[in-house]
Amino acid sequence: MKIKSLIRTIPDYPKPGIQFRDITTLLKDAEGLRLTIDQLAARYRDQTIAKVVGIESRGFIVGAALAYQLGVGFVPVRKRGKLPGEVLGHDYALEYGTDRVEIHTDAIAPGERVLLVDDLIATGGTAEAAVMLIRQLGGEVTECAFIVDLPDLGGMKRLAALGLKAYALCEFE
Ligand code: IMP
Repeated sequence: MKIKSLIRTIPDYPKPGIQFRDITTLLKDAEGLRLTIDQLAARYRDQTIAKVVGIESRGFIVGAALAYQLGVGFVPVRKRGKLPGEVLGHDYALEYGTDRVEIHTDAIAPGERVLLVDDLIATGGTAEAAVMLIRQLGGEVTECAFIVDLPDLGGMKRLAALGLKAYALCEFE
């Protein structure tokens, strides 16, 4: 598949033993970028989505382009301390320690149907934290969309356990 073939693997990044799936090689390819956004837009065009929420930072790139294509607004979920207005935050566990994501409290109106987007799902911890924020604001997550799924790390199953639908354009074992 064209999209998967344009994603580069960097061994031992950011630490030994990790195979980092690098989408910058997909993004810099005009056809690859267009295919990526067009495939996602085709899937979500008729789903009456009110907003696309993208997770910092690669989720911004995919999410903003997709929101533009769908003709809806874009909302960023950011790491702690980056958003200027009033925020809602959610802490989540990492392999070592914790991290925190935040969203503006006025970013989503109760009842709005929201599509959550990131470049990649691994354990699903980041996406789950973003879902918690959207749900706390009263938003309804229609689906979570990714370019890459790493099925061995179980993220899709974790989202399914929360009653969420999830979709990825390709997988790396
Ligand atoms: P998770 O929370 O374990 O699902 O990790 C997903 C988050 O980590 C996403 O925001 C990804 O952008 C980032 N991430 C983890 N592994 C990779 C990778 O191999 N390539 C690119 N991003 C990654």
